[in-house]
Amino acid sequence: MKNMKILAAAIVIFAGAAGAGCAQAAHFDGKRALADVKAQMDMGPRIMNSPAHVKVVDWILASLKSAGWTAEIREATKGDVKIRNIVGRRGQGGSWIILGAHYDSRLLADQDRDPVKRTLPVPGANDGASGVAVLLELARTLPKDLNKRVELLFIDAEDNGDIPGWEWIMGSEAFAAQLKGKPDAVVIVDMIGDADLNIYREGYSNRTLTDEIWQTAARLKFPQFINEPKYQMEDDHIPFLERGIAAVDIIDFDYPYWHTAADTLDKVSAESLRAVGETLLVWLAEK
Ligand SMILES: [Zn+2]
Repeated sequence: MKNMKILAAAIVIFAGAAGAGCAQAAHFDGKRALADVKAQMDMGPRIMNSPAHVKVVDWILASLKSAGWTAEIREATKGDVKIRNIVGRRGQGGSWIILGAHYDSRLLADQDRDPVKRTLPVPGANDGASGVAVLLELARTLPKDLNKRVELLFIDAEDNGDIPGWEWIMGSEAFAAQLKGKPDAVVIVDMIGDADLNIYREGYSNRTLTDEIWQTAARLKFPQFINEPKYQMEDDHIPFLERGIAAVDIIDFDYPYWHTAADTLDKVSAESLRAVGETLLVWLAEK
C-alpha cells in the first residue's frame, strides 16, 4: 500500500504540471456516488406524496447548490398529480445537453414473488437512486467553466405506470411539454447501478448518440456497455424523441429485483456507477 501511495502522489504532481493550461478532467468517483445511493435509501422509498419524496427534493436542490449549480424546481400538474422536476444548470454557448434520471420510486413492488410484498413500495436503490447518484457526482465533477449548456434533470413521477390513477413517465412528459427551444441531446440514465451491469443499446434511442456513448465506453474499457440491441423501453427519453429531440436511454433491464422489495443497496456497486459516470463525463467533454 505504501508504494501505491507514493506512486499516486507522483502522478498527482505530474498531472498538476501537465494540466496547467489545459483542462485536466477530474474523474468520476464511484464510491462517492454509492454514498449518494445510500443517502437516498436512508430516506426511505421516495414514493409520490410521501415525506421521503419531499426530503429527496430538498436534498437534490441542496446538493446541486453546494456543487455550484443553479437549481430550480419546474412544477406541473396532471389531474391530481403534482409533478416537481428539478433542473440544475451550468455553462453556456456551444451545445445544449440534458442529462436526466428519475428520482421517484415506485408505489408498489408488484413484481415481487411474494404476494405480501407486492403491496409494499419499491426501495428503489437501482431503480431511482442509482441514476440520481450518477447525476449528482457529475455535478461535483464537471468543470465550473463549461463551454456548453448542461442541464441535470431530476425527473419526478416516472415509475407508477400500470397502477390505477397513474401513468408511466409523467414527469418527463410534463417537462418536455414545457420545454422552450430544442436541446441538442438528452441522455437518460435509469437502473445503471446493478453490480452485475450489462447495458445493451436501447431500441428507440437515437442511433448517433448511442454510437457515441457506446464507443466512448469501449475506449475507456468499460465492458458493462454491450454494443448490441436488446430491449425497447418506455422510459423518460420517449417524450423527447416524440418532439424530434435526439435522446438516448442508458438502462440495464436485466435486473432480477426490478419492481420488487429486494431492489436494495446491496445490489448496487460503486464500479457500475463509475462505468456510467466516467463514460458520460468523457463523452460530455468531447461533445
Ligand atoms: Zn421502475
